[in-house]
Amino acid sequence: MMAERATRDSIQDIWGPRTPYLGEGQWPERVDERTIDEPERWVQSCCLLCSNGCGLDIGVKGGKIVGVRGRADDHVNRGRLGPKGLHGWVANNSEDRLTQPFIRRGGEFQQATWDEAMGLIVERSKEIIDEHTGKAMGFYGTGQLFIEEYHVIAMIVKAGVRTPHKDGNTRLCTATAEWALQETFGSDGQPSSYADVDLCDVWLLAGHDVSATQTVLFARVLDRLEGPDPPKLIVIDPRVTAVARRATVHLRPRLGTNLAVMNGLIRLIIEAGRIDAEFIDKHTVGFEGLKRTTASYTSEKVEEISGVPAAELRRAAAILGSTRRLLATVLQGFYQSHQATAASVQVNNLVLIRGMIGKPGCGVLQMNGQPTAQNTRECGANGSFAAFYNWANPRHMEELARAYNVEKEWFPTYQPPTNVMQIMRYCEIGSIKFLWIIATNPAVSLPDLARIRRILAKDDLFVVVNDAFPTETTALADVVLPAALWGEKTGTFTNADRTVHISHKAVDPPGEARSDFDIFRDYAARMDFKDKDGGPLIKFQSPEDSFDHWAAMTKGRLCDYSGLSYAKLSARSGIRWPCNEQHPEGAERLYTDFQFPTGYDECESWGHDLKSGAEISPEHYKAHDPAGRAILRDADYVPPVEEPDDSYPLWLTTGRIVYHFHTRTKTGRSKELREVAPDAFAQLHADDAKALGVADGDMVLVETRRGKIAVPARVGDIGREGRVYDILPGHVFVPFHFGNWDDPERPRAANELTLSYWDPISKQPYFKYAAARVSKITGDPKAAAATGTPIVEKVKSALGFGQETAGAIRAGKKIDQYVGLLDAAERELGEALTGMSERHPLESEIRAACSKFARWTDAHLETLKPLVDRFGAKDDGEPKRLRAGMFQEDRVGGLGLMRDVHDLWLLAQDAWICWLALEQVAKALEEKVLIETCNQNGGEAGLIVAWCQTQFKTHIAQALLMG
Ligand code: SF4
Repeated sequence: MMAERATRDSIQDIWGPRTPYLGEGQWPERVDERTIDEPERWVQSCCLLCSNGCGLDIGVKGGKIVGVRGRADDHVNRGRLGPKGLHGWVANNSEDRLTQPFIRRGGEFQQATWDEAMGLIVERSKEIIDEHTGKAMGFYGTGQLFIEEYHVIAMIVKAGVRTPHKDGNTRLCTATAEWALQETFGSDGQPSSYADVDLCDVWLLAGHDVSATQTVLFARVLDRLEGPDPPKLIVIDPRVTAVARRATVHLRPRLGTNLAVMNGLIRLIIEAGRIDAEFIDKHTVGFEGLKRTTASYTSEKVEEISGVPAAELRRAAAILGSTRRLLATVLQGFYQSHQATAASVQVNNLVLIRGMIGKPGCGVLQMNGQPTAQNTRECGANGSFAAFYNWANPRHMEELARAYNVEKEWFPTYQPPTNVMQIMRYCEIGSIKFLWIIATNPAVSLPDLARIRRILAKDDLFVVVNDAFPTETTALADVVLPAALWGEKTGTFTNADRTVHISHKAVDPPGEARSDFDIFRDYAARMDFKDKDGGPLIKFQSPEDSFDHWAAMTKGRLCDYSGLSYAKLSARSGIRWPCNEQHPEGAERLYTDFQFPTGYDECESWGHDLKSGAEISPEHYKAHDPAGRAILRDADYVPPVEEPDDSYPLWLTTGRIVYHFHTRTKTGRSKELREVAPDAFAQLHADDAKALGVADGDMVLVETRRGKIAVPARVGDIGREGRVYDILPGHVFVPFHFGNWDDPERPRAANELTLSYWDPISKQPYFKYAAARVSKITGDPKAAAATGTPIVEKVKSALGFGQETAGAIRAGKKIDQYVGLLDAAERELGEALTGMSERHPLESEIRAACSKFARWTDAHLETLKPLVDRFGAKDDGEPKRLRAGMFQEDRVGGLGLMRDVHDLWLLAQDAWICWLALEQVAKALEEKVLIETCNQNGGEAGLIVAWCQTQFKTHIAQALLMG
């Protein structure tokens, strides 16, 4: 007999009844539970449906999950669960789970055994690595696996396949968090925790709609607002959300203007003298630059740029400048925008100039979007390397290589890690030929979907997808592997406030589904990946082995897990890192000693210039070593790349709704969540709707320059808690969760419309704005939005790879272009050097040097011969044309000499950059001798460049002033 039980109706009452704080930091328990049958046993776990990480138990009966209940002893939620946590687990029991592998044959999916599927994946991998190296392989993962899985995948990709092309879908939600933290504090790692939510006097929420993204965290705030000493909320968000409705001050900037608003707030605080001068002086660098840059952002100028009334900006600054305990949080409203990192860093700056860090109730949380996004970054399963090591610092790579027991040269550190949009571009142009997509759905979640579908459907791209369900992306795969979900495997993960939970296996996965840990362990074994001693690269027999290895290798790092074990994590509910000898119970906040990991040899990155996005060179960083001080980086506002115009007069913005997660692969399979939020929509301001002749519920066509969708309109203030509220005039909001797996006919994914641009530092795409137009649909919505191409590609012509014969694809396919360019550049440089001796016979120093350099170029040409034989040499005559326009006949005297040195410098640069190109290729091919040759010859070309510069600096003033 079924015994359904729910302690509350989270669909109607999203955040649940109020349980006001009892006193400072005392948040009462409230255990939420929902079961569809009486559990036989409860298994310790944690919710995996947003970054909050609420501790829960999984109820099990008859080998099935039958419910969940919150864990009262967990400091994250004190027993509470939100609608997704209480309902999303039913996806595990869904009828349409993938239960066996599939291989596409002749354009159709056919069932396969694991042996057949893995055999094919390994065969393709080996063919591609043999022909092109691992750099022709890409991996795109998720923010929903466990530490144990990320750790194995990172080791395989970076030390087995050895490709830099690994990213996670965390690029879409938390890449800016990672970079904003690195730019300011030298390293990823959240400085604060939810303990500070309990204690703050003012909470600044920058682009962070906590009411929709982390419902239990919002319940925490609501309880503080009802308890003693409630905090003030300052909200920056163009929409009127549930949290904005509770704000003391709500700033509503136009899309894309966050940086101007932040600069304005900082200026007001500095001008009012509300800064902690002693803290700034002792513990930061860069204050003068910040002051200088923000000085011009008067409140009136900010109002002009952003639409935020000057008086409101001043009101917010007065509160932020006078509070004793300031906490700031940042999320997608800042992250998914242009100048994402620059704007998010200003939130760090605001906290720092007020000296509000490392203290109770203070600090900043650059929030995460997905449940295990933090681990993707920590474990090196996105663009970064594990344990916050700096990929560009050889000393760091040595330490990491020791931890993995591999050679550091195996790591693909010859170039920065590749972000997902660049991975897609490489797939598009054919330089990545194998893409493994792990537990994510890029055919709905990436921008400009028509293009993404075209890429994934390419016949010369071999696509493998691990997932638990058929999705828009599995439809485009060559091999589909059925994956186990949360509750069907054991592992650990870390939430947005550094709390680590263990989630024990409660039930078996359905059919033949396997955990990603097992899938990748199997792949490593079949590929025969070795460590440096010839043993298996992946030695872990169980997830616990992987965790123990991970915990040990983080000892002494900022994200120190060395005090954690499965036993310790199972004995209680949630422990924060760092957990070590110094903090055996975990630490509530970082940087309590105001020492930041910014030292040259300590930091995770040397950072970027926020204005240009250019990397800061190690030499420059070393020369200005912050050595433990936080860095205040500044930047000016620039307008977005696309703004409304006559053809597309509205601002489109996209975002979440409370009832769904990511692309609904899980939440869309809950009846209750599906029924309360069944479809995408376009939210319009009432004035805009009236002008367009659109009423609430009418079907509308939303169009941008990328595509169009047909969705119902929602007009103005809908008025239901947790759904959507008011929006600025001129704006239209579309939720991003809805794809087409359950509605294949009508285009409705927000990303049909979005821009394929990204922040230059974090590489996070701009989902928050684009220029759009909206019109009412009077006929058939499917016909109105039809594009002539299917939304979900059902047919991919054949097994992708193999359209070109392997033999025709040589590892030097395009290298001939740069070998030819270099050969010609060295030849022209050599002739120019020889000519210099003749043209300036009385310039002894010049003659001697040029003769020597000419011998170098002869030697370079000799070393190029085998490369010409191997790769071929394509010469389009460019270096010859370059020299033909140089070295004019009539050049005499000091100025004539300098003009010739100038020309020589240009030719030497040409040769130098060609050597650099070949050196990058040599590194990608892992050919040590070729690397050394390029390094040596390129170094000599660089010396010629430097010599020219020296000559120029020495003589040019004399030549220009005296003739
Ligand atoms: S707030 Fe997030 S982690 Fe907590 S129950 Fe809801 S979805 Fe799960």
